[in-house]
Amino acid sequence: MSNEKKSRKPLVAGNWKMHHGGLSGVELAGAVARLAREVPHVELVIAPPYTALAAAAHECDAEAAGGRGDVRVAIAGQNMHASHTGAFTGEISSAMLKDSGCTWVILGHSERRQHFGETDAAVAAKTTAAFKQGLVPIVCVGETLAEREAGHTLEVVKRQLDAVLPVLHAHVATAAAIAYEPVWAIGTGKHAGPAEAEEVHAAIRGWLAATSATLAAQTRILYGGSVKGDNAAGLLGCPNIDGALVGGASLDAVSFGAIARAADALASS
Ligand code: PEP
Repeated sequence: MSNEKKSRKPLVAGNWKMHHGGLSGVELAGAVARLAREVPHVELVIAPPYTALAAAAHECDAEAAGGRGDVRVAIAGQNMHASHTGAFTGEISSAMLKDSGCTWVILGHSERRQHFGETDAAVAAKTTAAFKQGLVPIVCVGETLAEREAGHTLEVVKRQLDAVLPVLHAHVATAAAIAYEPVWAIGTGKHAGPAEAEEVHAAIRGWLAATSATLAAQTRILYGGSVKGDNAAGLLGCPNIDGALVGGASLDAVSFGAIARAADALASS
């Protein structure tokens, strides 16, 4: 493994989507917090639904206090509004995520782009708002199947990245993350092969480097799309893949644990 890759601690983030919003979420957060003690070379983040954020954060704090303080699982929002406050019924602000114990936020997930019409400009505005509030963004990019089949993968990903690059550059010290998530691989059981994923990750690293060498060196680029325990090592072993954004397999501690353990084994070898 290159020294530059080694300098980026692997990040494994679980996006629970619209699952585990109550007591089961608190239990899962506790199980992930206990798992964290077994994978010290990996940073773990969980993104519960809004209704479980504060309780999950409390659970992770309690587990961290009972063990080694440096293995606290971080909490992420799955989305947020770009405004700090206002008449936006049903929305949640960066300040509210912060108040609920979040230190991270997932932005521009393909389900937000596809089903809720989020544009590149909206994702950029949210990214700015997240940094302003002290939340670290995981900005998602990725092409649809039609875009891949038409040979437009790199063009689409570059367009999505270009929208947020100036914001990421302005906040280079915060070391945000980017998640490359091919839309055709999300929740489908099909994942990009390591070579296919690495091609896009290397391109993203190159575009970051064209903006700033520090930005390229510090930004963790996660892969997302049907990551499971049995394919995690192949993906995470690639030179430019620094972790995973996990949907389905993050919904129980055993399958999430298998991915985290694969990342830990690679990072400690
Ligand atoms: C996701 O939604 O970010 C995701 C990667 O989902 P899955 O792992 O289920 O494909």
